[in-house]
Amino acid sequence: MRLHFALDFDGTICPVDTTDLLLERFADPAWEDVEAEWQAGRITSRACLARQVDLLRATPEQIAATVRELPLDPAFIPFVTHAWLRGAGVSIVSDGFDQSIVPLLHANGIDLPLSCNRLIHLGADRWAAGFSADGALCGSGTCKCAVVPKDRQVVLVGDGRSDFCLARRADYVLAKGRLADFCREEGIPHQRISNFADALPFIAAQGQFTRSPAPVLNTRHLESLHA
Ligand SMILES: [Mg+2]
Ligand SMILES: [Zn+2]
Repeated sequence: MRLHFALDFDGTICPVDTTDLLLERFADPAWEDVEAEWQAGRITSRACLARQVDLLRATPEQIAATVRELPLDPAFIPFVTHAWLRGAGVSIVSDGFDQSIVPLLHANGIDLPLSCNRLIHLGADRWAAGFSADGALCGSGTCKCAVVPKDRQVVLVGDGRSDFCLARRADYVLAKGRLADFCREEGIPHQRISNFADALPFIAAQGQFTRSPAPVLNTRHLESLHA
């Protein structure tokens, strides 16, 4: 079965959390109270994002100018290139927003399949959050487990709370930060990484094992994924 890499965006592909950056720069400070409610588990990610976007006051030009200059992980493009050369699929799965992700990808000449939330322009500096129908499954804006291919072995690369739902279902996780702690606590097969450079050897290891199915992936997770 082919391998598919599902890549988180904020904090993973882009070391900066673009949603937080836009809120810090342009939203009413009450956005942080909403954030605290979400961090404490009192509201869903979807409810949190909807309320925070309602507090945002920025023109489309201000948003584009803010995100366009942000760095991407230097090994992100080499990682995608190596994955493609090995025949793996790659997509971006994000609980962030199209208006911050797409300009940054295009500024770097990158075009990848993308599942994320939408920022709907209401005119002037006002916005509403738009979500996919699937997200309601787990309270995310974009439920990452609902948007990954069902007929592939899925390797998640991510860093945070928005990755928890897919981490439970993925075949393997390359995990930064809080996501690595979560995987350890939950007994999820994973490797702790600091950046995409740390993830490159994983792709090389897959190449050595192409003749035997899924040697580094956990079969318990495979069975539950395809049950
Ligand atoms: Mg993230
Ligand atoms: Zn989910």
